[in-house]
Parts: sequence; C-alpha cells; structure tokens
Amino acid sequence: MSQLVFATRNRGKLAELSVLATPLGLEVISAAELGAPDVEEDGATFEENAIKKAREVAAAVGLPALADDSGLVVTALEGAPGVYSARFAGPNATDADNNRLLISRLRGVDEALRTAHFVCAMAFADPGGALGDQVEMARGECHGVILEAPRGEGGFGYDPLFLIPDRGETFAELGAKVKNTISHRAMAMGRMQSFLQKYFGTT
Ligand code: IMP
Repeated sequence: MSQLVFATRNRGKLAELSVLATPLGLEVISAAELGAPDVEEDGATFEENAIKKAREVAAAVGLPALADDSGLVVTALEGAPGVYSARFAGPNATDADNNRLLISRLRGVDEALRTAHFVCAMAFADPGGALGDQVEMARGECHGVILEAPRGEGGFGYDPLFLIPDRGETFAELGAKVKNTISHRAMAMGRMQSFLQKYFGTT
C-alpha cells in the first residue's frame, strides 16, 4: 500500500479519511505523527485553508500531503460558523461548546429555516514531486437541517445536530459506514479518487 500523509490533527476526520482511502490502496498517516507543525487556518475560504495546510505539511514532512478544510454553513446564520466551525465558541472550544452555541443561536428559528450544509474542500500538494507548485482540488457538500437538541453518539463535531431529512437520522445516529457514503468528505474524496490512484499508481 502507498502512504498518504493527511494534514490534520482532528481524530474524527482522520478516522473517516482512513476508511475512504483504504479501497484506493492508500494508507493514511497523520501529519502530527510525522511531527508536522500546526498550520494557522487564516484563509477566508475552505479552499484557501486546504491549500495552505496541504502545501505547508507537504513541505514540512517532505512527502505528498492531502488536506481537508471543512465546516458547517448555516443558512439562518448567514453562512456561520463556516471556516470558523472548529472555533465557533472560542479558540479552545470543544465540540460540546460549539454545539451548545449553535443550539442557542438557532433558538426560536422555525424548522423550515434551519437548513445547513457541510462543506469539505480537499487539496493535494507535492511541492517536491511531480506536481511542483500545482495543487489538485476537490469539493464536496452535504445538505441537512440543524436540530434543536443533539441526537446520537457517533461521529464528531456537529454530527449530533445535523439531520439528513431523507433518512430521518443525524450523522451521529447514521453511523460511520453510512456517513462515509453520503458525507461532504466522502463526496470530495470520490472526486479526488481517480487523481490519487493515478498519482500513486494504485489503479
Ligand atoms: P477544520 O477543517 O480543521 O478547520 O475543522 C473543521 C470543523 O468543522 C470541525 O472541527 C468540526 O467542528 C466541523 N466539521 C467538519 N466536518 C465535520 C463532520 O463531518 N461532522 C461534524 N462536524 C464537522
């Protein structure tokens, strides 16, 4: 199996990406495991942050790297928390803090107006290899509704509040297997798949 460095410190993302990469013949290694430094996510868009993370981590570890910048875009909050999803409730916020804040910001908002979507921007960089300064990008989105109270034990982040209306369950209730077929991350990885397989020669 070829090894793919994933530029994240988020365990939830790492677990999901590992499952998505295995059928492509790729073993995911976390950038943190290789001692890569934290990358400051100061971009205005998911794409900018993903490119920055992929480039900086690839340069730091000397290997090709894939990065995912993702977050929740809530219609009634004019797109917030967006790129600030991980630190919605402050710089050291936990998932529980962020979920509490989201519930309170949406208190009293009508069910029909509680729509939201997750975005995942993926960037693959290999500055020392065949790609040079180029970056390969893919984006995935997954649409749902924000509940008034959490439901389910699985997943991470905002999963317990994110309902998929067609299925009547939150990401935290659906379980990893189903989430990994419909999530924003699964969509982005699906679009990145053939590029990665060609790049690593695992087709
Ligand atoms: P970042 O991409 O490291 O800036 O962080 C993304 C943040 O968005 C996470 O910390 C979560 O709060 C949220 N997020 C991204 N993807 C998911 C998901 O699949 N489920 C739940 N929350 C997510």
